[in-house]
Formats: sequence, structure tokens, C-alpha cells
Amino acid sequence: MTKYLGSKKYHTTNIRKNKTRRNLRRNKTRRNIRKNKLKRVAGKLEELDKLDIRKKTIILMGELHTSKTDNAEYLNIIKKQKNIIDNVVKKIGENKTYFYSEAPIGLIDKVLRTDNYSSSVIVQYVNFRTNIPIKYSSISLCDRDTGSCNNEYSDDILSIFAINPEIKCIIVAIGLLHVPELKRLINEKQSDINIIIINTLSQEQLKPFIPRFFSNKSMRELLYTEPSYKLPIETFKVSVLINKDGKKIYKCPLCEAITRTAAPENPEDTDLFTHDFTCPNKGKIPVEP
Ligand SMILES: [Zn+2]
Repeated sequence: MTKYLGSKKYHTTNIRKNKTRRNLRRNKTRRNIRKNKLKRVAGKLEELDKLDIRKKTIILMGELHTSKTDNAEYLNIIKKQKNIIDNVVKKIGENKTYFYSEAPIGLIDKVLRTDNYSSSVIVQYVNFRTNIPIKYSSISLCDRDTGSCNNEYSDDILSIFAINPEIKCIIVAIGLLHVPELKRLINEKQSDINIIIINTLSQEQLKPFIPRFFSNKSMRELLYTEPSYKLPIETFKVSVLINKDGKKIYKCPLCEAITRTAAPENPEDTDLFTHDFTCPNKGKIPVEP
């Protein structure tokens, strides 16, 4: 239990804060800007939209066991993963979808009873709120740093298709560090399976990974090609007021916070709208009635 849920596997103290030259250059390419923009606007990966339901697909949902004490990241990663699961179900259907969890089968009773880590909350969501069957990992010992368990993981995941021919899509919730090697192994073993990678970590959570990404080619590629999953943009109906200079300003109908004139000029910049800390409209885009 503690080994799986309390693992410090992803934590490194060596955080490289500055972007490398290559990363900066890459971020500026037109293709990349377009790709990021698409993801932001669509709110979900275009691969999910284009998902060919006739082809067997494995979605490698790269994650991190985010602790409840890390409140903002914890809620955020849960939201993203629920959103991905909901999107897949909408597209493929519960009866054709399977969920694979990195949580070892021997610890399931405990995983289903704690909300200390985001990964447990997601397993509980699938288990109690959907009809998607779950396979828990058969791998109990895992040398995560060297990734020697990836071969076992790939067999474990592929066994789902072998046993359940009706299944079209497997959502795999697994530590992001496993993802590049898992992709390679699955490709090698069954090249006819479509693989989609979704990274659910925030930029902030990715920082400790950066030293490892730069020492490993496949990790580097992953970081470049799979920016953090963006949630769909949410909006709320705002109250429109006029200030003493006759300029338009906004008021939140829930927390009653009032903006300056910049917010109506740039409604998509949610930083310009300062809500009460607990306001449900926080981070949403204001739209006029
Ligand atoms: Zn508000």
C-alpha cells in the first residue's frame, strides 16, 4: 500500500527551471502553436475526437499519484482524468471500454477506501460511477526507475483484448514515466493497435520530470509532443455594470466580485477577473447575457 500510494518515485529535487533553447524554439514553430491552440480551443485531444472506433485503441493516460495535500493539483488532475473517461465513454460506450489501473490487485480494498491520492479517486470513480470493467495491475513489485516492469505491464494490458474480444478501447491510468516505453512495447507486440497518449500532469507537476526528460530521448519526445491535457473551457453568465467613467465592468453573480475595465476587454484572460477564493466561477470565462 505505502509502496504504491506513497511512492516518491517521481520526486526529484533537481528542478530545472529554465527552458532549453531547443524547447523554446520548438514552442515557436507554427505547427506546435496550432496544435496547442487546437487542444486549448477544443478542450480535448483531437485524437480523441478522431478516434476510429473500428480499431482497437489503447489510451495511455499518463498520470501522477497526486496527494490530497496538494489541493489545486489534486483537484485538477482528477477533473482532467474524469473528463477523459467521460469523453471516451461518450464516444465508444461503456460496454466497449475497459479501464486498467496501475494499482496492484492486492491493494484494491485499500485503494477503494482512501482519497489520499488522485489515482485512488479515479479508480473509485470508474468503479462506483460507471459500468466500465476494471483490471488492476498484476505487477506487485516494480522497479520504476529502470522501467523493467514495463514489459509485464504491456502483457497485462494486452491480455484484456485477448480475453474480451468485444472491447475496443482500454484506458490505462499509469505513471507518466512508464508511457514512452509502454508505447514502444505495445507497438512491437501488436502493431495493429492504435495508441493515444494523454498527459494529465500540469506544467508545474512536470517540472521535476524535466531532468529525466532531457537524459532520455523517448521521454524528451513525449514532453515535446504531449503537452498537458487541457480541460474544456467553462463559461459563466456575468452581470454587466458601468463604472463612474461610463466604462463597462463585470460583476460575478455568485461572489459579487467586481472587475476593472480590462476584464470586459479581454474576457478570455481569466486572470483579470479576481473572484472570491472559493467561488465556483473562478477560472471560468465571463460571457455577457
Ligand atoms: Zn465569483
